[in-house]
Amino acid sequence: MSKKILVSLALLMAVMLIINRKEAMSQEHDNKTVSVKQEQTKEVSNNKGASNQSIDTTSDNEQTTSTDKKFLEQVDLSRYDLILVNDSHAFSDEQLPAVTGIIDSNYQVHADLVTPYQKMKEAAAADGISLRVVSTYRSVSYQEQVYEQSISDNINAGMSQQEAEEETAVYVAEPGKSEHHTGLAIDLVDQLWLDAGKGLVPEFIETAAGKWIDEHCAEFGFIIRFPKGKEEITNINYEPWHIRYVGVENAKYITGNQLTLEEFVELVEKIQKEKN
Ligand SMILES: [Zn+2]
Repeated sequence: MSKKILVSLALLMAVMLIINRKEAMSQEHDNKTVSVKQEQTKEVSNNKGASNQSIDTTSDNEQTTSTDKKFLEQVDLSRYDLILVNDSHAFSDEQLPAVTGIIDSNYQVHADLVTPYQKMKEAAAADGISLRVVSTYRSVSYQEQVYEQSISDNINAGMSQQEAEEETAVYVAEPGKSEHHTGLAIDLVDQLWLDAGKGLVPEFIETAAGKWIDEHCAEFGFIIRFPKGKEEITNINYEPWHIRYVGVENAKYITGNQLTLEEFVELVEKIQKEKN
């Protein structure tokens, strides 16, 4: 081959390389634009009123990216830590595995939570927060006592029987319908909040500990089970202290996409149905 041909071949290859790189860059840019747009749409639809719930779920599903889809397709809803307990999904004691784990000296939990909780507690301590457990596993009969106690407390506070029952129904789960029966839920505050004699009230989110839990619990496999703005879906008022174990991957997905466990389960079922 002559020198001239070699030089023009080299030039041609250089030009082709530049073109390829440009294409790759513009593709990258396009992908970014799309995902940002999707995020924005998601946020808007998530902020819509609860009356538009069913519409929101559909539009969220349509926006599910292929990465999301792959993740959702492999979620195993038969895993115990994804069990759904709410108004329409009562928990029966037959479903209860041995609640053999103990955290904070004497609080009974499902064994899977012990290490994640311990790690979370240490991470919080490193940030100057002393996490304290208020409640974990509760039997159905114990929940009956809690429920009755709440009603009589409300009556003592001046409410009529009906008002007291309605108020209790808003804040306390009906026996059999509390996540605490599963051993996967923790009511969690910090030492300062306990010292101040504050109860389990939404204002806890205004404290450093409340914010820390909100921001970090997913890293350890926990979700804020009753988030703000999702009351129409969970039927439970915002509870910044009530965390539920679902495993790290699921917790990150649920929190990152601002979902409730109800919405997550529905989404997984839909995606897996489409696949089959
Ligand atoms: Zn709770």
